[in-house]
Amino acid sequence: MVIIMSPEATQQNISEVVEVIKGVGLDAKIMEGAQQKIIGVIGDKTKMASIPVDAMQGVDHSVSISKSYKLASREFHPQSSIINVSGIEIGGDEPIIMAGPCAVESREQLMEAAEIIKAGGAQFLRGGAYKPRTSPYSFQGLEEEGLKYLAEAREKTGLKIVTEVTTVEAIEKVAAYADMLQIGARNMQNFGLLKEVGKCGKPVLLKRGLAATLDEWLNAAEYIMNEGNPNVVFCERGIRTYETYTRNTLDMSAVAAIKHLSHLPIIVDPSHGTGKWRMVKPMALAAIAAGADGLMMEVHPNPAKALSDGSQSLTPEHYRDVMSGIQKLSKFLKDEKLLSFVED
Ligand code: PEP
Ligand code: MN
Repeated sequence: MVIIMSPEATQQNISEVVEVIKGVGLDAKIMEGAQQKIIGVIGDKTKMASIPVDAMQGVDHSVSISKSYKLASREFHPQSSIINVSGIEIGGDEPIIMAGPCAVESREQLMEAAEIIKAGGAQFLRGGAYKPRTSPYSFQGLEEEGLKYLAEAREKTGLKIVTEVTTVEAIEKVAAYADMLQIGARNMQNFGLLKEVGKCGKPVLLKRGLAATLDEWLNAAEYIMNEGNPNVVFCERGIRTYETYTRNTLDMSAVAAIKHLSHLPIIVDPSHGTGKWRMVKPMALAAIAAGADGLMMEVHPNPAKALSDGSQSLTPEHYRDVMSGIQKLSKFLKDEKLLSFVED
């Protein structure tokens, strides 16, 4: 942290700031600027968190230099992390695909979807049993009944299960059935929920908030990791911008940015990212080319009958086509070593 003193600051003001810094066990270095004096704070800046230094006499403003997140940052952990979810490695050589319906609607729908997903080559079955719907009148999910169908689908197909948890009360139940807990966009800054999934120890898929900056997203991961759970995977799912053609604006640059800022894997959800099934294939391929560690895609046996997000769900036929494209592109990128520019 550096503290920029105003041009009118007196020697007395500077001494008072230095005293406060030293008082919390940190070191202060005074630098002479052309107009103003600057005080560098050396040491763990979290010790300054409770001091309203910007309010002190003679202080113009302060600037934080080191990042507020540590455990999630690549500075702290230079080597890319591979997150092992029930034997599946996310962040390794192969892109990991999570696919399935938006919501678990019935036993028949989920079993049919699971067979399709498995045959297409994905490793994870997705499907919400607890749905965070915009309207309280929309289908809210089958809750525990849905979790049971997911577990049954895992038994049948061997697919791993990723499903959303929306409340602290539901964590234990969801964790008992799922391989990976999903934190949805609407809950990315639900800090109480983040702390509790951190304590529960299951791997977490952390979706980007509806309007979250990368810094806020990284700090959300820090909340989970700070509770002792290092198994966090980011999922870029689009952010809200002024564009209305697409449901969200899929921020593909987040893949490269997160790869630089964090050691944690990142996958991309082109379904919620665009809201349109036609755009899923091009965006899925773009994500893999950008260095994403995998994808999450909505697939429904019959999207026209889906209880939620039918318009962004792939039919079984389109799903197979997207998967074949992903496999060809991944092989090409690997053979040509085209992703070797990514951090390590
Ligand atoms: C989902 O993946 O089911 C979902 C609701 O997505 P998001 O939280 O990204 O809107
Ligand atoms: Mn959905």
